Amino acid sequence: MSRLYSPSVITISASRLASRIDALARFGGLPGGGVTRPCWSPQHEEARAWLTGEMRAAGLETWVDGAGNVFGALGIHAFSADGGAVLTGSHIDTVPEGGVLDGALGVLAGLEAFQTIREAKAPHRRPLAVAAWSDEEGRYGSLFGSRAFCGRFDPARVEAMAASDGERLVDAMARAGFDARRAGEAMAPGGAVAAYVELHIEQGPRLEEAAIPIGVVDSIVGVHRTRVVFVGQADHAGTTPMERRRDGFLAAAEYALKARDLVLKHGGGKSVTNVGVVRVHPGVTNIVPARGELVHEVRGPDRETLARLDRRSAALARRVARRRGVEVQVEAMSATTPAICSARVQAAIEAACATLGLRSTHLYSAAGHDAQNLATITDTGMIFIPSKGGRSHRVDETSDGDAIERGANVLLHTLLALAA
Ligand SMILES: [Zn+2]
Repeated sequence: MSRLYSPSVITISASRLASRIDALARFGGLPGGGVTRPCWSPQHEEARAWLTGEMRAAGLETWVDGAGNVFGALGIHAFSADGGAVLTGSHIDTVPEGGVLDGALGVLAGLEAFQTIREAKAPHRRPLAVAAWSDEEGRYGSLFGSRAFCGRFDPARVEAMAASDGERLVDAMARAGFDARRAGEAMAPGGAVAAYVELHIEQGPRLEEAAIPIGVVDSIVGVHRTRVVFVGQADHAGTTPMERRRDGFLAAAEYALKARDLVLKHGGGKSVTNVGVVRVHPGVTNIVPARGELVHEVRGPDRETLARLDRRSAALARRVARRRGVEVQVEAMSATTPAICSARVQAAIEAACATLGLRSTHLYSAAGHDAQNLATITDTGMIFIPSKGGRSHRVDETSDGDAIERGANVLLHTLLALAA
């Protein structure tokens, strides 16, 4: 029994959860800490097998659907129409050189909560299920697994889906033993899920700075990714007069700086932007770049604002191209919709905090999450715990043991309330 809570309150095993977090971190673990475990990679597939084994050992029914989502459940062995399961989960894929908690925490805390419920024989009227959603980080397509589960998979796009290094989704999934063309079969039957709640690290500094242990998420940002390619002319970098150069990179650089200003000015105060992929072709010092390619990402909690920023960014790209005498192609790569969290699930999280004597605050999620797809089919909410220094998507991403224990206990009590 945990020293943090009254002995009359059912609680998870913090040490068992911590040891599973350590064990999962070894798949794709990096020598200096952190982890690289992209979806469908051999490390990810080994982690999937390990996770399934842990779920079975904990007494859960397990299955994997056509989109590669892993499920562990109490009371069901598959989703059925009007089955009304209470679902939790997150993801076990990571960004390159990512941390050990982003995603892993929500999956393993869900497993821990169910094991606790099973061992304590705690009553739950509704079936319970925990998911590890495929490719949350969007190596091939953002929130891929939860998108398919929620009926938002577009089969027309599957052949063209590829990682930024060019590897195709169909090939990556085939290597792992899946057929990408059949991912749509993962769609949940109507009424299969009665509520969804996901535990996650905040990935930002707000909770830590306010010294509040639990965040009740009220909305989740949408993420729009656009490829912007400026095409000029390759020329000798010594002999071509400066005023005649049609430099694809400089156009891309100007766009990147001005797009930042544009999002700050017109983003409604809550939108953020990043250019995290830059490619220059041919990419040698003695040739003026013919081509400058960027992947421009914009995030925000408001759908109309995101659409407006897309239109303004495209117009900016055309203006920059015209002025610099180059061509430009603007291609929408992916767009997730911002989501509003359910009042019922938020109330259940707050009640769990009250049971455990924990303070909480409301905040919006500045990162995208599978929960935003689930919000299109069921009442959805998220629980945040503080991230040390607000760090995430880096190898030193962490949270402290007590914070993890608190979050997992809030998840446990929220699930029990939703399943009662
Ligand atoms: Zn995550």
